[in-house]
Amino acid sequence: MSLQDLQGWCVQQGQPGFRAKQLHDWIYDRGARSIDAITVLPKAWREQLQASAADSSPAVGDWIGRSRELLRSEARDGTVKLLLGTRDGLSLETVGIPSGDRLTVCISSQVGCPMACRFCATGKGGLQRSLAVHEIVDQVLAIREVMERRPSHVVFMGMGEPLLNLEAVLAAIDCLCSDLGMAQRQITVSTVGVPAALPTLAERALERLGRAQFTLAVSLHAPDQALRQRLIPTAHAYPIEQLLEDCRRYVAITGRRVSFEYILLGGLNDQPRHAEALSRLLRGFQSHVNLIPYNPIEEEDFRRPTPEAVESFRRNLQERRIAVSVRASRGLDADAACGQLRRRQLQASSQG
Ligand code: SAH
Repeated sequence: MSLQDLQGWCVQQGQPGFRAKQLHDWIYDRGARSIDAITVLPKAWREQLQASAADSSPAVGDWIGRSRELLRSEARDGTVKLLLGTRDGLSLETVGIPSGDRLTVCISSQVGCPMACRFCATGKGGLQRSLAVHEIVDQVLAIREVMERRPSHVVFMGMGEPLLNLEAVLAAIDCLCSDLGMAQRQITVSTVGVPAALPTLAERALERLGRAQFTLAVSLHAPDQALRQRLIPTAHAYPIEQLLEDCRRYVAITGRRVSFEYILLGGLNDQPRHAEALSRLLRGFQSHVNLIPYNPIEEEDFRRPTPEAVESFRRNLQERRIAVSVRASRGLDADAACGQLRRRQLQASSQG
C-alpha cells in the first residue's frame, strides 16, 4: 500500500489520517513484521485488527504482507541467500549480493517458473503461482533486515518470468521507488521473452509509472533461432527475429537501450562462430551484452565454459564493437546455482 492507500484504509477503519504516515514509516522504514510490532498505534486498535485477522479472509493481519524466513545461507564472499515462506506454504529464493558500495537484491517474481529453460534449476519444477506485489517488495525488505544495509540495486533475476506477472512487477517497482526511495535506474527487469509482451511492458510502464527508466535485460543465450530453441523450449513460439524486433520497439517507445544476457555453455554456444553470429545479429542495435558463465545444476550435464573461452568470447565481441561485460559468479559455495537452495529444501522435505 502506498501512503495514499494507507490513508484511505485508515479512514475506512475510523482512524485519523495521521495514522497512515505512522504505518508507512513503520512498514517501510522500520520494517515492522506485524501489526502488533507497530507500538505507536493504540493498543485497542492493534488488538481489534489482530482479532479480525483471525476470522477474515483475506486476513486483515495479512496486509502487512511479510513472508517468513525458512533458510538462510551465507557464502564466503558475503552473498546471502534466503529461502522465504509465503502464507500459503510455498517457498521462494531471494539473494543479497554485496559488492563494494553496492548491495544488489536478486528477487523473484513467481514461485517456480513455466518457461522451462533447460539450464535453469527453477524451470525444472514448473510454475506454482505468481507472486503478489507485497511478496515481491517483501524480498527487498527481508534482505535489508538480514544484511542490515539499504539495498542499492534490485534485479528481477530470481525465480519466475516477470513478463508473466507484469502488473504486479510494475506495481512493485512503483512501491520500491515511491515507498522505499529507490530510483528506477537502480532496477533491472530480466525476461527470456514472451510473445508480444515487450511493447506491452513499455506502454504499461509509461502509463503506470509515468516513465520507463529501469533497465530491460533480455535473456538471449544464442545467436540464432535453432540453437536458441534447443536451450529455451518456449522460444519455438517466438522467432528470434521477432524478439529483436520487439526489443527495437521497446527502445523506440522508452528511449532506453536494452541489455542482453548470454549464458555461456561450454562447447555449446561459446565458440568463436557464436560470437561472430551474435555480433552480426546485434549490429547497429543500441545494446549491451552481459556474458554469464553457466552455473552447473544437478539435472543437466551442460558444462561450465573454460575461463579462456569466456575471455576469448568477450574479446571477440569487443573487437566487433559490441559493448560487453562478464558477470562474476557470486555465492557459489553457498548453495551452488540460482534456485538450488529451494530445490534442495524441496527434495529434503519430500524425503521426509
Ligand atoms: N525469467 C527471467 C528472469 C529469471 S532468470 C529470464 O529468463 O531472464 C535470470 C537470469 O539467470 C537469466 O538470464 C537466466 O538465463 C540466468 N540463469 C538461469 N539459470 C542459470 C544457470 N544455471 N547458470 C547461469 N545463469 C543462469
